[in-house]
Amino acid sequence: MATGDFHLHSTASDGVRSPTWVMETAAANGVRVLALTDHDTTEGYAEAQAAAASAGLRLITGIELSVDLDGVDAHVLGFGFDIDHAPLQAYLDEQRGGRVGRMKRMVRVLAEHGVTIDAERVQEIAGEASVGRPHVARALVEAGYVESVAEAFSTWLGDGKPAHITRDRLTPAESIALLHEAGGVAFAAHPIYLGEDYPEKVAELTAMGLDGLETYYKYYDEETVAAHEALSAKLDLARSGGSDYHGLGNPNDREIGDIPFEDSDVAEFVAFLEERAVPGLAQAGAV
Ligand SMILES: [Zn+2]
Ligand SMILES: [Zn+2]
Repeated sequence: MATGDFHLHSTASDGVRSPTWVMETAAANGVRVLALTDHDTTEGYAEAQAAAASAGLRLITGIELSVDLDGVDAHVLGFGFDIDHAPLQAYLDEQRGGRVGRMKRMVRVLAEHGVTIDAERVQEIAGEASVGRPHVARALVEAGYVESVAEAFSTWLGDGKPAHITRDRLTPAESIALLHEAGGVAFAAHPIYLGEDYPEKVAELTAMGLDGLETYYKYYDEETVAAHEALSAKLDLARSGGSDYHGLGNPNDREIGDIPFEDSDVAEFVAFLEERAVPGLAQAGAV
């Protein structure tokens, strides 16, 4: 069993165990330092923190963000960010909101361009309809920023215009920037799921500011780990490890801490986090 596990899910996203259960089980399995990395939410953190404190664990903040990498769904792990960072939490709120969330992103992007309309007013205009660009366009006309709906599209909302939000998800570059702004670091989760050309994809992400690679992943054999170590060395990336525990009991699943993550590699990862002075790590005891 490894002493660190930095990829864990709970009932806050699609795991089947509570944050408390995950922390207590991690401690029972010999894990000393860890992160709860639920999908697009930090809702489980407060509960996990209380359980981790009782169990004497070092818990750092974590999340697994779904991003759109050239049409492929990719996962970016964030560690050690400020949990109360307003733009990060605003994004996560928007994700929960679906189409309403996308509308709010449009409103936020417009505000960044000095065009301020009220998201609530857009919602009122939409009424019972599923809110979308036409309603934002009408709010822009109403607020006097444009003469017509057509002008709203040609200036702001149409394809390729500044407030054209095509995706519900962040681009990888946006996710990395957001995690950095929040004081954290960004790692590529389970790189081999990116496909056979994952080394090229990881190189692309590295050019966008990626900090590290999930190198010690649940069922990876020695050869796979060695390939990831070589890739991270080549690209000068740090290395994390995690079980991606969901509690589902699928054939490739591993228990919390049951990962090919040697103590020296755990220590190296923790040293990397300490060097970056990620919040949360300093207050806790030594591993
Ligand atoms: Zn994932
Ligand atoms: Zn995961």
